[in-house]
Amino acid sequence: MISQERLQEIARHWAVAETLRRGYECEPRLTEFPGGWVVWSPRPAGGPVPEPGDGETVIIDRETGALTVVPGLPPQVAMSRYTGPAATAQAAYPAVALPTPPPGAVGTMPPPLPPTFATPVDPLSLTPGPPPPNAAMTSSPFGPPRLSADEQDRRAAALAARLARLSPGAPAPALPQVVATLEVVGRTFQALGHTADAEPVHHPAVLQALAAIPPGSRTRGAHRHPDLIVVSKALFELGGAAHTDPAWAARQLVGATLRLHLLREGTDPDRPAPAASCHTCGTVLVSLGMPGELPRDLVRPEPPQRGAVGRAALRAITAEAVAATIAVPGARHRLPTLPFLVDLLEPYAPFHPVLQSQSGAAQRVESFTLDVWTREQTADTLGDLAERLGARLFPIGGEAGGLHSILAVDQHHRVFAIDHAGAWYLGPTLDDAVQTLLIGRSTPRLRTNGTW
Ligand SMILES: [Zn+2]
Repeated sequence: MISQERLQEIARHWAVAETLRRGYECEPRLTEFPGGWVVWSPRPAGGPVPEPGDGETVIIDRETGALTVVPGLPPQVAMSRYTGPAATAQAAYPAVALPTPPPGAVGTMPPPLPPTFATPVDPLSLTPGPPPPNAAMTSSPFGPPRLSADEQDRRAAALAARLARLSPGAPAPALPQVVATLEVVGRTFQALGHTADAEPVHHPAVLQALAAIPPGSRTRGAHRHPDLIVVSKALFELGGAAHTDPAWAARQLVGATLRLHLLREGTDPDRPAPAASCHTCGTVLVSLGMPGELPRDLVRPEPPQRGAVGRAALRAITAEAVAATIAVPGARHRLPTLPFLVDLLEPYAPFHPVLQSQSGAAQRVESFTLDVWTREQTADTLGDLAERLGARLFPIGGEAGGLHSILAVDQHHRVFAIDHAGAWYLGPTLDDAVQTLLIGRSTPRLRTNGTW
């Protein structure tokens, strides 16, 4: 079964494509049924009233995440007839396949209308689609939401205070961060991701569970993740370092609960979003007796074919998205205008999602998205890192799957991933970085002095 996080990611990407296709902002909603979820979006007030048999129902398969478009059937009927993704949809999102027409009609429902598409649809295609956005428009659907300067300062101060409180006796780590809260035998332990140059010290039972995972199957920087650090902290407190047996650790952790929350620039500290463990942390936690299922691999589907149609529109959208992202300042920094951004991102625009979770050459490969539509503030996060690196940075996407990173390109075209364990060098160019992410090449970590 796909994870909640992956489900949200698929729905978000569906919403971006639908927004571009329909010409109005689509907010994704999910309706669950035994086969998966129907993804839909409310129509705008005053919009056209749908005719019976009009439109389509889009289903996300519960097991694979494959998207299936069911034309001409209302959701209730489509859900009742859904038997799984068509063979060609096994590639999972973003492949979009048409189902085999269901046999017979149900009750008094009319037979399904002919499909509106004769071939699998490229979700990145913009035809038929809206006209390119007008670059002179004063408001843009792209770019992060704007906060008032007062609210931005309040949140920045509250986040800094929380990071300092969670890092007693040490310099507070930079954002983005994940805070792990472990409750066990009536006690509460908390930890952040470990971003210092020195390696974190783990309990022997955690080290043993980590060592059982081959290096090529381990997620980048997992031993620095707060979910493992907080468990080590608790085990040191509960029994010292004398016990190395995972079975002993499992007995200590009976009934324990672990929660993860994201702390990112612009986050309301009173309402941080929940976060997920990466594949490696999930595996270690389950092997130490924490509740949950062992995470599974996800084999990368074939990438969607892109036609040349719509390139002018994509270029216009990319330019507008970049401008809208730059337009939102941080409390201390602004994002730079890098002259090559539109040329760099247009081949991947409006977004380029890669779903994967499997062993790689030197480390595990995980899902990532190159995305011109930046939905969160990054000016201060990337501005602080730019000072350390000596080069200005711009956000170009992110990684889900428990990494919660920001992907960014610098003024020399180099690409980095910035997550709760630090910043990682992915390659000298975007093409190189994509290869690194696809095959799991090793990714050196930036030291405090900005070198790697
Ligand atoms: Zn992890």
